[in-house]
Parts: sequence; structure tokens; C-alpha cells
Amino acid sequence: MGVPQDDWVDVQPFDEFSFENAANRKHSRGRRLLRVDQENPRFSEIERLFVKGWRHRKKARPQVHFIFKVLWMEALLEPYLAYRSTVQSTVKAKDRRGNEHLLFHGTNRACLLGEIGNNVVLCSLQDCSLCSILRTSFDVKRCGSKNAFKRFGHGIYTTSCSSKADDYTSSLSKEATLRVALVSRVVVGIPYKRFRNATHLVAPPVGYHSVRTTIVDNLTISYLFS
Ligand SMILES: [Zn+2]
Repeated sequence: MGVPQDDWVDVQPFDEFSFENAANRKHSRGRRLLRVDQENPRFSEIERLFVKGWRHRKKARPQVHFIFKVLWMEALLEPYLAYRSTVQSTVKAKDRRGNEHLLFHGTNRACLLGEIGNNVVLCSLQDCSLCSILRTSFDVKRCGSKNAFKRFGHGIYTTSCSSKADDYTSSLSKEATLRVALVSRVVVGIPYKRFRNATHLVAPPVGYHSVRTTIVDNLTISYLFS
């Protein structure tokens, strides 16, 4: 049996990733991942971001096989949406979403989630950071658990450079044939631009919402919630 594919209709007032959204209500809550049809404009939009972000010329750019939309219980999305509204009210940006960007993050995957397109059930393996993030979102406390060196301090690291995120992607299962990158909405707000390392940071300076640097592949570091 095939996996239900997503029509990605953004029906207010619920968030487009919420199970409560009328477009998503028909999907079983046990299945958090919905495969996005290749014909869907969101597929090309995300594929384009990935291709454009692949800036390491020496690394062969992989083909995008599947894109999945991740659905959330409304209660788990609320802190993000509330934070975004707070930032939105302080950012005088044209953008109405607190300068929200879609950014990449690479992590460990111990299971075979996403392989062959119909493996969409999150695992509970302890070393599967991918499923852990997909289950409850990023946890700033886990920062540094993979790489002890935190160039810009203790935060959640995301980047528009897909090939950089790929450096942090690893498939722990020997049966894995594909690699997985997360594409996350990140409230960048007013970014503090930093051109030198700042390993001591635990929050952006007052008046800013994130730290951004161009010295290392356009990293954006968020310290609160991303
Ligand atoms: Zn997993």
C-alpha cells in the first residue's frame, strides 16, 4: 500500500504543519511524515534550496529522492508559533513571520526513516538524533553532543548551505543507502552578525534573535527555539 501523499494546502487558522489543519486532519497521527509529491510546487521549492545551497564544489551533489512534510500535534508547535509572533512584533521586516527562513541541519540517523519512501514511522533508538528531533523538535541541551567544539557557543546550528549540513549527516545503519537532511523553519529575527568565533555565547546579544556568520557557510545559530 502506498503512503498518502500530501497536497499541502495551507488552511487557516491552524499551522500548515499541524494535524489540526483541515488539510492534514485526514492523516493518521501515527504517521508524522507525509511524502510530498514531486509535482507539488513545494517539492521544487525545497529541492531548489538544496541545490542552491550545495556550495562545496568538491562534494558531488546528491539527487533529491524524497521530500517529506513533518506533521505535528498543535501543542508541540505552539511554543514555536508563540515565539515567532513575539519576534514578529519586534522585527520591522516586510516578512510577517519574524524573518523566518528554511534552513538545513544535519544529524545522525540510526534507523532507515525515509528510505524507499514508505518508511515513515519514527524509531525509538537511543542514538537516532533524527527521530528524536522529529519527535519533540530541537533540544538546545543536546548542542555539542556530536561536536564538542561550538564555534558560536551553545545553540542550535542551522545553515542555508546544504552541503555544510551534509557534513553533519551520518547514517549509522549499514543498510542505509540514502542520506537525510532536515529543513527547518527558523525564526532568524534580527541576526547578530559575527565574523569571529565566539565559543562563550549562550544567547544572542540583547536586541538580537540569532547569530549569523558568513565565515562558515552561512551558519545561523538560534539559542531559544528553532
Ligand atoms: Zn530513527
